[in-house]
Amino acid sequence: MARTIVHNKGNQARILLSSVFGPYAQDDAYGSRALNPMELYQNQVTRTQGSFSLRMFHRSFGLMMLQANIHAPCTLLDFPSLERFELEIKNQLYDVVGISAIMTNVAKVREMCALTRKHLPYASIVVGGHIANNADLADIIDADHIVSGDGVKWFRHYLGQDENAPVQHPMAYSGFGARILGITLPESPGQTAAILIPSVGCPVGCNFCSTSAMFGGKGRFIAFYETGDQLFDTMSRIESTLKTRSFFVLDENFLLHRKRVLRLLELMEKGNKSWSLHVFSSARVLQSYTIDQLVALGISWVWMGLEGENSLYPKLRSVDTRLLVKTLQSNGIRVLGSSIIGLEHHTPENISRIIEYAVSHDTDFHQFMLYTPVPGTPLFEQHRKEGTLLPEPEISSADAHGQYRFNYRHAYIHDGREEQYLIDAFERDFEKNGPSLARLIKTTLKGWQKYKNHPNARIRKRIGMKRTVLRTSYAGAVWAMKKWYAGNERMTAMMGELLQSLHEEFGWTTKLIAALSGRYLYIMLKREEKRLARGWVYEPVPFYEKNPAAIALENQSRRHPKQTIFRKQWIARNIRAVDTSPIGMSRKAH
Ligand code: SF4
Repeated sequence: MARTIVHNKGNQARILLSSVFGPYAQDDAYGSRALNPMELYQNQVTRTQGSFSLRMFHRSFGLMMLQANIHAPCTLLDFPSLERFELEIKNQLYDVVGISAIMTNVAKVREMCALTRKHLPYASIVVGGHIANNADLADIIDADHIVSGDGVKWFRHYLGQDENAPVQHPMAYSGFGARILGITLPESPGQTAAILIPSVGCPVGCNFCSTSAMFGGKGRFIAFYETGDQLFDTMSRIESTLKTRSFFVLDENFLLHRKRVLRLLELMEKGNKSWSLHVFSSARVLQSYTIDQLVALGISWVWMGLEGENSLYPKLRSVDTRLLVKTLQSNGIRVLGSSIIGLEHHTPENISRIIEYAVSHDTDFHQFMLYTPVPGTPLFEQHRKEGTLLPEPEISSADAHGQYRFNYRHAYIHDGREEQYLIDAFERDFEKNGPSLARLIKTTLKGWQKYKNHPNARIRKRIGMKRTVLRTSYAGAVWAMKKWYAGNERMTAMMGELLQSLHEEFGWTTKLIAALSGRYLYIMLKREEKRLARGWVYEPVPFYEKNPAAIALENQSRRHPKQTIFRKQWIARNIRAVDTSPIGMSRKAH
């Protein structure tokens, strides 16, 4: 990390952190794209599943992590509109404005920097996130500091704090606004997994991986919590604050850190924790654990890179990924497989077979992404040297998001055909394997059947938490899906078989509940389909959050209005104002 000057106000500096502005799911001059909404699943996983698609948003966790570790007064604006961002910098005094973005949002960052210069001419502008890996960024935007890598350490140094103090974890749920089959899911405490960020970066260093490149690439990563003990303490605090036993572990390759993981397991056993963990893991690492270890650790969902048949990534060497997926699912572990379209050896002649191979994994969810050289990665460097990158007029950086076109000349795939190959992959997966929701229910049922009577009470308790949902809402959803597919013999049989298994497992009450709630869900499903046909899009609500120092400053200005340091107090009606206590990022591939 490049050393920088310390801000002259140190911990008295007033800081605004902001994500880029929306709306996001539309085509506009700032680089928003209808094809690239602010939704991970709809964007690149369940894209063609219509009303079966899982719709949800995730907060800007990188900014939340920064805010939790800044002692200076710090306000966070997440998902603002351009007008809301401008109002904030017009009406409040800030000494530092920090903006985080991915590559596609460069035009938004340029506009936000220009507005900041206009309204806060003395403020320092700090830009970070994936966009900082663009070597030309300083020529495109007007910022004072472009920070790549560990922003927590950078900000601590900049504000004169102890860089090596223990990292405070934000208290946040992993998603919000979850919606499926036309129903918005309730957000009561304990229903949603908490976010957990043990480390960032991945030492495996695959050539295309922007998250690995961002934190140093091959051989490097940054651990916020180095030991299992530190991690266990952090998780215990999150559990008691958010009242949840489920964690979405935002760590590129969580299981790779074996010593930390095994110590965590030891402490979970000792502390009788029935936690469930949703993790990212490469295949070989996953295979290096026994199923008993994975189940004891509470691994209940895994995001794994399958990349493609005959891909030469060492992380897949000697792994039969189809067998691995099947084994995990038969133990109740839901799998999101990730495949690449457009690897070096992909051609118009072999692409159907490549897609068929990916689909044959029958994962619960399947991400397909174009093989895309992102600035900062070895793949980008290779194309730069070979002169095969396309210039901005041929492909805007706003369109290089991996769901539309290559940003380089592919050796065999030309004329924009990659877009159709990508859609073919999503559609084939949906057509052959059915809605991801049904697959997820099937895997969850397998886990329940296998472990409901497990001798270890801790494991029994975790699995038991799925009983209610399986016999009620999941059964109703399968009933509705079966009705939806009337006329499609294969899918009706598939849904019928799953419904029958649920009936057999949970008896006549489930049969009754499924028929009643299923009718309601079927109506909602049809309504959602009509809504989608009318072009309905989903946008995240904005968040406006102050840390304790910012709240204290605000209270002080209320008590002494004459010495007010705020020009005007303004909080939009639809903005959630949240107190973030100090105890309390977009990935594309694996
Ligand atoms: S793709 Fe996965 S395994 Fe490869 S470097 Fe990235 S996080 Fe690590």
